[in-house]
Amino acid sequence: KKYLYAFEEGSKELKKILGGKGANLAEMKKIGLPVPNGYTITAEACIKYYDDGEKIDEKLIKGIFERLKELEGKTGKIFGDNKNPLLVSVRSGAAISMPGMMDTILNLGLNDNSVIGVSELTNNPRFAYDSYRRFIQMFSDVVLNISKHKFDSILDSVKERENLSSDPELSVDNLKEIIEKYKKLVKKETKIDFPVDPNKQLIMAIESVFESWNNSRAIIYRNINEIPHDMGTAVNIQEMVFGNMGDTSGTGVAFTRNPATGENKFFGEFLLNAQGEDVVAGIRTPKEINELENVLPEVYNDFSTISRKLEKHYRDMQDIEFTIERGKLYFLQTRTAKRTANAAINIAVDMVEEGMITKEEAILRINPDQIEQLLHPTFDDAALKESQIIAKGLPASPGAATGKVYFTSEDVVEAKARGEKAILVRVETSPEDIEGMVSGEGILTARGGMTSHAAVVARGMGKCCVAGCGDVRVETYNSLFKTANAVVNEGEYISIDGNTGNVYKGEIKTKEVAMSGNFGTLMSWADDIRRLNIRTNADNERDSKTAIKFGAEGIGLCRTEHMFFNEERIFAVRQMIVSTTIEQRKIALKKLLPYQKDDFVSIFNVMKELPVTIRLLDPPLHEFLPSEDEDIKNLALELGMEFNNLKSIVNELREFNPMLGHRGVRLAVTYPEIYEMQVKAIMLAAVEVKKKNGYDIKPEIMVPLVGFNKEFTIIKKLIRETADEILKEENMEMTYKIGTMIEVPRAALTADEIAKEAEFFSFGTNDLTQMTLGFSRDDSGKFIPEYKKKEIFESDPFETIDQDGVGQLIKIAFEKGKKVRPDIKIGICGEHGGEPKSIEFCDKVGLKYVSCSPYRVPVARLAAAQATI
Ligand code: ADP
Ligand code: MG
Ligand code: MG
Repeated sequence: KKYLYAFEEGSKELKKILGGKGANLAEMKKIGLPVPNGYTITAEACIKYYDDGEKIDEKLIKGIFERLKELEGKTGKIFGDNKNPLLVSVRSGAAISMPGMMDTILNLGLNDNSVIGVSELTNNPRFAYDSYRRFIQMFSDVVLNISKHKFDSILDSVKERENLSSDPELSVDNLKEIIEKYKKLVKKETKIDFPVDPNKQLIMAIESVFESWNNSRAIIYRNINEIPHDMGTAVNIQEMVFGNMGDTSGTGVAFTRNPATGENKFFGEFLLNAQGEDVVAGIRTPKEINELENVLPEVYNDFSTISRKLEKHYRDMQDIEFTIERGKLYFLQTRTAKRTANAAINIAVDMVEEGMITKEEAILRINPDQIEQLLHPTFDDAALKESQIIAKGLPASPGAATGKVYFTSEDVVEAKARGEKAILVRVETSPEDIEGMVSGEGILTARGGMTSHAAVVARGMGKCCVAGCGDVRVETYNSLFKTANAVVNEGEYISIDGNTGNVYKGEIKTKEVAMSGNFGTLMSWADDIRRLNIRTNADNERDSKTAIKFGAEGIGLCRTEHMFFNEERIFAVRQMIVSTTIEQRKIALKKLLPYQKDDFVSIFNVMKELPVTIRLLDPPLHEFLPSEDEDIKNLALELGMEFNNLKSIVNELREFNPMLGHRGVRLAVTYPEIYEMQVKAIMLAAVEVKKKNGYDIKPEIMVPLVGFNKEFTIIKKLIRETADEILKEENMEMTYKIGTMIEVPRAALTADEIAKEAEFFSFGTNDLTQMTLGFSRDDSGKFIPEYKKKEIFESDPFETIDQDGVGQLIKIAFEKGKKVRPDIKIGICGEHGGEPKSIEFCDKVGLKYVSCSPYRVPVARLAAAQATI
């Protein structure tokens, strides 16, 4: 196996083995861009390293030094030399980008000998010794695990003794003294001498980059982003170029377009006379990339030409890292840039219009899960005007967030667990803060630019972020932060606007957004090519309207039980439940009828002639009754009943396994009058809307939890008779359908029998999953995380359809149903209907529609289009 590639040997197609960074460095080299020379140790070598018990084998070591010789040849420099020393960076880089999660070491190859060479070549001994000092500190931190602070205190003590206030005042002799002290510290901490042999440095650095694949923040990052843990990281050994050689040198990061808005303009930052990560670390505040044109016009010109070329070559927006050494520009990294959902859409549509990509490619470029963030509310303008701005920072990641202030990642995680909305406020974030960033509503930082850690990570997560807010002084030890005009304590509300960078005191109301512009364009392209219809789950007027706005083509699941929970109605519902005779029950049901009818009228009026599938009552009856004695007492009083009497009814209704209990069609078999009332309400509503507004309503009445054809036949007869009677009374013709959910495995297996009577099927994949796996949805939270960790299954089966198990039942039921009734309409409701991978599966099986919550409708439209490409 080939474990080593010179940059000249690779290409972007080899990402899997060279890692993203290595593959793209190779690609840039291939198309003739200015990239410092180097070579890549493959990710496969990293896997082997772990397989061999965390050891680099002799053969690879030999290879690494052969390649190093070649590099010396190409650069004309010599590793560890005191005249013309070669310094390298040792850079991690996995196949899937994990920004900042693993380690990189710069300036490797410095020692007592080569520092002389650097000093003479640059004619700047201070720079040389300062680099050496930094290298020892960085290497010790990353490779030897010695805390940075211990080095800082050495530095501080020398500064204090010499009466110096800043680092640059240190003399060369001071620096040499510090270097000696650093080495002593290393010896004390590790019992070994600081490795001055550059060959040894190199191997140790490579090992530690391999090790960084499994550091805890990298593992957390992979878990959150569902990246496999067994891919390993490649290691790039690359000749150093120096951005810190004076004012014609510098370093920067840039995007070929604006990653927040998508605007087709360079976007990024640079620092003159700086090295490596100074820009990202947020230590000095960088300048905007456009200003480079004024400072170093020729460099800017090169930058602009090459960046455009890169974008054309990759046919996508690039995220670039570059360094300028004494007026010469080098590209050190390029990758497909992360972007907000909004930017993703604007860029995709723009690139189609620029002729760079096709419509299909544009559709594939958008992550369906990501667009949901566009649909979520922004701050209400009126509420915003009333609010006090207490600070302003950079609009680092769009959105609007309101929550209580917390200053550590742990506190945010705990607040979220308590059910609070939290905002993480920090001086700056680091990869250790990742969990707090996930749990919070938004992130506010005092330092750092648009490409700081907080900004980059927040944009990737679609989380609102205001960064570099210089007005904010965080006093973590006092649990508060101050601005020019306010003090905010931990636990108090603030609101942050990721579109403007404004920070407000207090909680601010938010408002809905509309679908228009490029978003609308892209969705219409998606609609043109998708096969699946997209319906919504809605059981009231408001949700129906929202869903229509988002492009729903009908209701796939209207749950009727939610309609019962309103204060006035629950009383009648409870009366109905505690009734001991049919007569009593019918009286209570009569009270409910007008309520139910009105609900359906308002829904039909919104949905007009679009199909509406209404599911008859599903949950077990005890869900509508109180369980605490205190509440039972009150209810008994209200109902005019004896407490003991009511209590025994409540006890009787209590079930060991409510999910498998007396619910769904089973309720109707025992109490047919409940469904009878509901069917009346549906038909009366349909008739009323048809008469009044002329819409040709065709209700679809759906029976839940059917497992036997006989069950369904009995209930179907009841529904038919009830519905026809209403139509006759109202003197009206109307087509309506009676169908069933397929959510009991037995129903799936006997779908051919059931299809003889059922006019449509809808897969209730929540229950079907529970029953097929034998996992109670309400209890599985206890073990599913462990199951995921042990890779018993890849993803939570309640989030993504378990294709091998549940999916088979769906296929069986689909085929059996179609055989008996070729025109049968088959869809899916339940959470999976809005999940892209499950949608792809539904498309493959050939379902007619998926149904999901209103906010997922655009997600589903897009995912359904992607499924066809
Ligand atoms: P990360 O994956 O964390 O971004 P990188 O390997 O890209 O780490 O290194 C971080 C930064 O270090 C780069 O953006 C670049 O500025 C600097 N750097 C890395 N290698 C070199 C090099 N050979 N010459 C100059 N600077 C380098
Ligand atoms: Mg980088
Ligand atoms: Mg169900």
